[in-house]
Amino acid sequence: MIDFDKDIRYIKGVGPTRVALLNRLGIYTLEDILTYFPRDYEDRGKYKLISELENEETAAFKAVVTSRVTETRVKRGMAIYKVVARDETGTVVITWFNQSYIKSALTVGKEYIFYGKVKKGIGKVDVQSPIFEEVGKSKNVGKIIPLYPLTNGITQNVIRGIIENAMKEVDGKFIESIPGWILQKYKLCDINFAMKNIHFPNKFEDFERARKRIAFEELLTLQVALLQMKNSVKVENNGISFEINEHIEDLLESLPYKLTNAQLRVWKEIDSDMQSEKPMNRLVQGDVGSGKTAVAMLAMFKAVRNGYQASMMAPTSILAKQHYLNISKTLAPFGIRCELFTSEITKKKKEMLIEDLKNGKIDIAIGTHALIEDNIEFRNLGLVITDEQHRFGVRQRGLLSSKGTRPDVLVMTATPIPRTLAFILYGDLDISIIDELPPGRQKIDTFAVRRNMEERVNNFIIKEMKSGRQAYIVCPLVEESENMDGLKSVTEQFEYYKNIFKDFKVEILHGKMKPKEKDEIMARYKAHEIDVLISTTVIEVGVDVPNATIMVVENAERFGLAQLHQLRGRVGRGSFKSYCILKYDSNSDVVKQRMEIMQKSNDGFVISEKDLELRGPGEFFGTRQHGVPEFKVANLFTDIPILKQVQVVAKELLEKDENLLLEENLPIKQKIEKLFNSEEFNTI
Ligand code: ADP
Ligand code: MG
Repeated sequence: MIDFDKDIRYIKGVGPTRVALLNRLGIYTLEDILTYFPRDYEDRGKYKLISELENEETAAFKAVVTSRVTETRVKRGMAIYKVVARDETGTVVITWFNQSYIKSALTVGKEYIFYGKVKKGIGKVDVQSPIFEEVGKSKNVGKIIPLYPLTNGITQNVIRGIIENAMKEVDGKFIESIPGWILQKYKLCDINFAMKNIHFPNKFEDFERARKRIAFEELLTLQVALLQMKNSVKVENNGISFEINEHIEDLLESLPYKLTNAQLRVWKEIDSDMQSEKPMNRLVQGDVGSGKTAVAMLAMFKAVRNGYQASMMAPTSILAKQHYLNISKTLAPFGIRCELFTSEITKKKKEMLIEDLKNGKIDIAIGTHALIEDNIEFRNLGLVITDEQHRFGVRQRGLLSSKGTRPDVLVMTATPIPRTLAFILYGDLDISIIDELPPGRQKIDTFAVRRNMEERVNNFIIKEMKSGRQAYIVCPLVEESENMDGLKSVTEQFEYYKNIFKDFKVEILHGKMKPKEKDEIMARYKAHEIDVLISTTVIEVGVDVPNATIMVVENAERFGLAQLHQLRGRVGRGSFKSYCILKYDSNSDVVKQRMEIMQKSNDGFVISEKDLELRGPGEFFGTRQHGVPEFKVANLFTDIPILKQVQVVAKELLEKDENLLLEENLPIKQKIEKLFNSEEFNTI
């Protein structure tokens, strides 16, 4: 049996200094070093003829040295070594700088493999500082060479050597963790072939097969883990059953609008979850403005009518307050008491609220993170809602839930997750989608413009303001160190626009301001005491201002599409025609494509799929924001075809062996246990 947990220091070639360096790379055990995969490969396996060498390429070629090495001292401490070599198609002059060992390293008449950068002029070929090895004795040329991520003090040669030694120790005895029937069905190579060829492939096709198999395994492990988690939640039937359904009709009638079909459908799904004894764990996705709050309100109403308390957490105090105002206004006539919990309420008031909440005198608590503070207790919390889930960690959701006994949980988000990924990100949640906007919403016209349109844009804003409308101008967050390349910070923009819009009231809003100041500015903007708000993305999820009709985004190329879409959703909330103007400053094709998508589409799902496609999942989701474990090889975007196969096969596997008790499934089971114990998974 090979001990894959063996400390790295027992591997040949690893002394005390290297142990420290390897630790710095996150490598502690034999397994760690074996799964330290290359970041790239260099093809030193194909030899070119000298006549085929091209200017500026890095290439390998075989040639016989035909001259002795010459040494030229250019100035003090600087020596140039030159040698001439040839094959049947031509001659090259090879140059090294300051490497005196060259003098004795090459022998006239011997054939070497050289690998280096080519400089081609008229009638001559130069190669600079190539690495070289005698033909027949080569180790580092003449094949595909893996390149590993490094740290100071370790070279490619060193790490490659250590990995070679580690591979020798295992000697083809890796443990197969994918059951044979899956390997066969998807024509995957076995683990030993995969491990050898991900590090030291002879051909790129072999590397591809190896990579595919390892990605498959990573995705399969996660997928089986998520499915198991989901299945285990399903069988627990000890949640709250909210049976009383009275007065929902009255509430619906009291609303100034009729629910859309999509809202009704999603409400039915929530309603039946709440009815059932199984704890609800549901994600509601819906584009900005699709009316998620109304649906959440129905759920809270139902909980309260069944004698329970409900709580709703929002990411900003502005948003919490807006929810509070809306919801308390609608529910007060039914004798339901709603209170707002944010960090801004006075100490005295807070003490009173805490007391009332504990005694069950408050039915619904709406607020920010203030809700998950230790001293907040409920009498009988039955329903927990988090709004704009993408702003919270899953842990925070859990903290709020823990204030009740298996309460029903509803999570709302306006960031549509592409379907292929929804399960990975929210594996433990059922998903409802509100895929329809309330009737009568006007389409927001979107324009992407370059800097030369600035004046026209400004004039357009002035025209709108003269007819009584308001505008938002959003700037990206700029770090001080970045300020050079024409990016302006929000305060600079504020100074600039105050001057441009002299006849109007211009204000600034950014994340560094005190919550109270922010609230005040938003309240004044809503009351139309401010015409233009220059802000950072703090308004991304914010207050409804129906009179605002223009959303300008500065340096739109710096934002994700999903975020731009979210910002755009701040306007078009009233009956006036609204506009979104994306100012960008880049010649990149990707940026142009992204701007085009924003102009063409108003559908959050389409936009997020495209965003993911153009940027890749890392940037799309932000690092670990969603608690997705990082993969060593798999890529959540480019490997979607594999992900699809894995989603099918994981189900099949668990249908055959629900608890992974079969011998062939033990390795996966162990991998899952490891995954759940890992730090990454526990931050979810
Ligand atoms: P979001 O999904 O972005 O949270 P909200 O719930 O805040 O959307 O709703 C946006 C606006 O649409 C609110 O002013 C709300 O009163 C209104 N609204 C919600 N549902 C409907 C509907 N069915 N018909 C008309 N207006 C609606
Ligand atoms: Mg909302």
